[in-house]
Amino acid sequence: MKRYDIAVVGGGIAGYTAALTAKNLLLDVLWLGTTPFGKLSLAAKVKNFPSQTGSGEEFVRALVRQQDAEGILFTPARVDGIYSAGGYYTVTAGKQIFEAQTVILATGVEIAGVLKGERELLGRGVSYCAVCDGALYRGKRVAAVLSGAKYAEEAEHLAKFAETVFCYCPEKLEFSEENITVLSAAPMAVLGEQRVEGLLTSEGEIPVDGVFFCRDGTPPKALCGGLAVEGDRVLVDRTMATNLSGLFAAGDVTGRPYQYAKAAGEGCVAAHSARDFLRAGRPV
Ligand SMILES: Cc1cc2nc3c(=O)[nH]c(=O)nc-3n(C[C@H](O)[C@H](O)[C@H](O)COP(=O)(O)OP(=O)(O)OC[C@H]3O[C@@H](n4cnc5c(N)ncnc54)[C@H](O)[C@@H]3O)c2cc1C
Repeated sequence: MKRYDIAVVGGGIAGYTAALTAKNLLLDVLWLGTTPFGKLSLAAKVKNFPSQTGSGEEFVRALVRQQDAEGILFTPARVDGIYSAGGYYTVTAGKQIFEAQTVILATGVEIAGVLKGERELLGRGVSYCAVCDGALYRGKRVAAVLSGAKYAEEAEHLAKFAETVFCYCPEKLEFSEENITVLSAAPMAVLGEQRVEGLLTSEGEIPVDGVFFCRDGTPPKALCGGLAVEGDRVLVDRTMATNLSGLFAAGDVTGRPYQYAKAAGEGCVAAHSARDFLRAGRPV
């Protein structure tokens, strides 16, 4: 399998700037993410970024022109795990596996709120990856909370193992699997003390053993075991290094201010730091 110098995870301005900088440093870079420049197009008018005075969509068009001119490839993938593999990293996205010497995490922050109990019960019944954890729920009752219809196959995957899958999605969904029950009531909280015991919806409690959240963003701690965080903020030093050797972070994922300029700057620094790390030949 090809092993890249750097895998950049996250399709926003931080990830793009890291990939752009790495390419110009003549590194072999893999740029992964759910969608390129997703959040940028949301801005009605871009503020606080040099040269940009128009809408977010205009900003994205300018970036895509540059991306094409520079030959920066984007690989669509929803990353679900980053693991140190003894001297390098493996990055998994469903059934896809990538290898890189270093990783830059630029996954932003989730703008749709997380549910009460979700973070507290992560790894104790809360999961973000049906493909990775679905088999653990053989014969059990689980909930699948999908942010959109594009994640329907994650609920179908869970249905292969679980006794019942209670599936909530704001978009209309129909399943042929008899053990998937589509919920119309919106989830409000994950219930349980030591482990997940249920899902609270606007129409009452549903007892379940596991709750799977399928949305574009994944909390960094769920992606990468042992990563030092404070809340959802990845802890970094001035070189954007995390506590894990060879793993750097940039952009909103490292904390406030949530601004394009800060995210782009950190992406640039992270790429330089990854290059220095590679040059020094330090172990992962
Ligand atoms: C409506 C709105 C308007 C804004 N206006 C401005 C403005 O005018 N000026 C300004 O400076 N800032 C503005 N911001 C803030 C700015 O958008 C953010 O600070 C900036 O986009 C952060 O960039 P980022 O690359 O760190 O994260 P993001 O842009 O959030 O990109 C992270 C990407 O990583 C992806 N991702 C997450 N998890 C995974 C995973 N597991 N696998 C693969 N991909 C994953 C996400 O889907 C996302 O596409 C605005 C924000 C919003 C919401």
